[in-house]
Amino acid sequence: MITAVSIINGKEMQETVGEKQVWNPSDLTSQVGTIMYSPKESVRKAEQAAVSAQIEWAAKTGAQKSQLLYQLADAISTHAAEIAAAGSDEMGKPITEMKGEVQRAVQLFKYYAAEGVRPDGDTIPSSAPHVLQYAKRVPLGVVGVITPWNFPAAIPVWKIAPALICGNAVIWKPAENASLTAYKMMEVFKEAGVPDGLINLLIGRGREVGQHLLEEASIDALSFTGSTEVGRKAAKTCAARNIKYQTEMGGKNPAIVLKDADMKKTAAALLSGAFRSAGQKCTATSRVIVEEGVKEKLKEALLQEMQHVQVKPAREEEAYSGPVASKEQFEKVTHYHALAKKDGNVIAEADIPSQHGYFISPLIVEAIDTSHELWREETFGPIIVLVSASDTHEAISLSNDTVFGLSASVFTNNLSEAHRFLEETNAGMVRVNQETAGVEYQAPFGGMKESSSHTREQGQAALSFYSETKTCAVNYGWQL
Ligand code: NAD
Repeated sequence: MITAVSIINGKEMQETVGEKQVWNPSDLTSQVGTIMYSPKESVRKAEQAAVSAQIEWAAKTGAQKSQLLYQLADAISTHAAEIAAAGSDEMGKPITEMKGEVQRAVQLFKYYAAEGVRPDGDTIPSSAPHVLQYAKRVPLGVVGVITPWNFPAAIPVWKIAPALICGNAVIWKPAENASLTAYKMMEVFKEAGVPDGLINLLIGRGREVGQHLLEEASIDALSFTGSTEVGRKAAKTCAARNIKYQTEMGGKNPAIVLKDADMKKTAAALLSGAFRSAGQKCTATSRVIVEEGVKEKLKEALLQEMQHVQVKPAREEEAYSGPVASKEQFEKVTHYHALAKKDGNVIAEADIPSQHGYFISPLIVEAIDTSHELWREETFGPIIVLVSASDTHEAISLSNDTVFGLSASVFTNNLSEAHRFLEETNAGMVRVNQETAGVEYQAPFGGMKESSSHTREQGQAALSFYSETKTCAVNYGWQL
């Protein structure tokens, strides 16, 4: 059992404004921990700790910063099994996926650790004689990091690691439903030797502590991942305060299947993209657009592949998918599930365990109109809506028929059609013969349209976000 409390300046906060017992979404009779909510006044303490820690941290050499990030990678690796178990028990992600996610956190720390000894700027020829001109990255200061529950280990690390290597201190507010995992990770960070105040964990409610962090704290930047509704508010607040920000939000990701696609492999990729983690990925496939002539062939292949979709308690190694994360998620996804059954034709539906948990059967439906909320809204659950298109042109137009623009895939071996899709699809991640979900830490990640504030995370893109550019010029000809 984990008791999650805020950790500010290296110390656990004693003051709380309420607590919540956390039950395992795979087994609602089993308590896995307690969340102790901090008052919004704790934000001020975190801010003071971060401001003073940042000054010392920024003064360290790149090699010293690099060393700490390698220590963090090693510590996460040592405690990988405990962190994965905490995430799986808290928000129901299948243990195999959760282990993979923790390994991703290790890779992220290592990737950004190496940046400590890589170039941090450019020299730019000056128009004047004997002038050395260069531009270099400098830290922003204190960065607020607000994270969602669906990747409780990887998303915080893909923000914290680049923030640290760029010389910033962090105030981290995880989602309520990921508080136990966040606390576990903070324990590991401490063990790795993170200086007091460099990373401060705020356990609290979004509308209290999160909002206070946004509106009142003297943070120099905000990195937010979560719903479009909260992300929009966060962007507005940061713009009004002239704070640098990035918001990564929802998706309604399409996958197009063209007539020459390998149906068996395609069906496997579609189900994996849509149903793993119970569809609770911002990049999950939720709309499938198939060329009319091969619709029946694809449906047969999907039915075959559905046999592998084993919904099981999250700790079972062979679980293809687990429960949804929480009561709120269960109610929200159940609403869309019922709508799908009422307004669509069910093509396939997987079984769920009888255990008392938040299990929702993965579902594939057709005959849903493109004006329907199932086509337009992010369901964040295991539901595929299948529609057909007469040709690639119509398929791309249907895939772009959304306010979101996070990820999109096409399945084809036709080089020309694949490139046409890559050119014409309005999404931050466009993929050929790969599921919509899944990203690589060394590549830029983020969405277009309403999915993002148009910045990018991960890879080299994160280094630009977590720093300012200072242009320096030295006239060494002054005394010549
Ligand atoms: P959410 O918006 O409810 O919460 C996200 C975070 O914001 C949490 O830490 C929460 O406590 C905090 N928060 C809530 N209200 C706040 C307020 N008024 N002020 C400040 N902070 C506040 O989202 P969620 O349910 O945790 O996550 C699911 C959403 O995240 C989905 O829409 C999903 O698509 C999106 N997501 C996007 C990406 C991406 O990279 N684009 C990745 C993962 C998840």
